[in-house]
Amino acid sequence: MSRKLYLDNAATTRVKKEVLDEMLKYFSEFYGNPSSQLYELGRKSKEAVENARKTVADFINADEKEIYFTAGGSESDNWALKGIAFANFNKGKNHIITTKIEHHAILHTCEYLKKFGIETTYLDVDKYGMVDLDELKEAIRPETMLISVMYANNEIGTIQPIEQIGEIAKEHGITFHVDAVQALGSVRIDVKKQHIDLLSMSAHKIGGPKGVGGMFIRRGVKIDNFIHGGAQERGKRAGTEGVQNIVGFGKAVEIAERDFDKRVERLTGLRNRLIEGIKNNIPDVVLNGHPTKRLPNNVNFSYKYVEGESILLLLDMEGIAASSGSACTSGSLDPSHVLLATGLDHGTAHGSIRFTISEEVTEEDVDFTVETMKKIIARLREMSPIKNDEDLLKK
Ligand SMILES: *Cc1c(COP(=O)(O)O)cnc(C)c1O
Repeated sequence: MSRKLYLDNAATTRVKKEVLDEMLKYFSEFYGNPSSQLYELGRKSKEAVENARKTVADFINADEKEIYFTAGGSESDNWALKGIAFANFNKGKNHIITTKIEHHAILHTCEYLKKFGIETTYLDVDKYGMVDLDELKEAIRPETMLISVMYANNEIGTIQPIEQIGEIAKEHGITFHVDAVQALGSVRIDVKKQHIDLLSMSAHKIGGPKGVGGMFIRRGVKIDNFIHGGAQERGKRAGTEGVQNIVGFGKAVEIAERDFDKRVERLTGLRNRLIEGIKNNIPDVVLNGHPTKRLPNNVNFSYKYVEGESILLLLDMEGIAASSGSACTSGSLDPSHVLLATGLDHGTAHGSIRFTISEEVTEEDVDFTVETMKKIIARLREMSPIKNDEDLLKK
């Protein structure tokens, strides 16, 4: 195993060197509690937290008073849904609209909210994973309090028409939440222009540390507080701030902003090279997600007649880390809810592999991946009972 190639950057990313260097100071040098304002050490921590808040706010065209730090994307998603649901309790508003392809942090929260009489409509998507705006309009009821649509999908990379959805929500006076965990740093986000009221972010998907994220809450949006306790985060999310994590998040955003266009352009080129390489070298494959409206780092294909898990094992033996489209790892044999929602049959969905690249990846790495996949798929298909049966039928 000579090469080590990490192509699972939608799962998490390496903490950038610059980010780590900045964070380290806040463990043992500037370790004051940001709430301790009467001495220098506390003020230093507070200042660091507020600098990070400003950086994150500027990045999405928000005001710094509209940014709240959380423990990550899942917490922000939970807060958005529960916070809006509880703020509307007993006010005749009990309906949420979301999509069938959201992250489980959204879907499982909607399921939980059923207990409190909250109903959810799950919008279908087309074969590219795209939401239909007419279906969205038809789903709106007088009781609808929230529309929650992810900016970009973590499995297939499809980017939704967020601005148009925002316009529809605004016209109807409905709060609009966006899970932007995968989009942050890859797509230009402007919460004003796109009429977004709530936005979930996470640091570890963009070269920051795990366990910290953020939520944008537009001024004036009525949402319940999430963690009850001290006055941190304007009383909405109590608990001593994870200063070093927040500093790391701020630094990761600063870096993302600094080289945005160059990085996205380069990633898009590599992504297209990988897509073309697989398409041109391996027969019987299906590209999952939208051909162009997709994240610059996402490549997701289904390989007919083979099992995703087997591909992953062989990739691992070649030193390549990727992800499959089934939930086997979570103890279930069901294929991903996202792939099924795009209309793939169970068999095809089971043979899906997601590669998500980072700026560390080179053209050489991409070509090596294509060559490796070509070998692996050919080998697995030789052994595939499904493939051999179909070949016999053709004869
Ligand atoms: C990773 C991810 C989350 C969860 O974020 P964490 O910080 O890991 O809790 C939520 N939504 C999407 C789309 C994600 O990709």
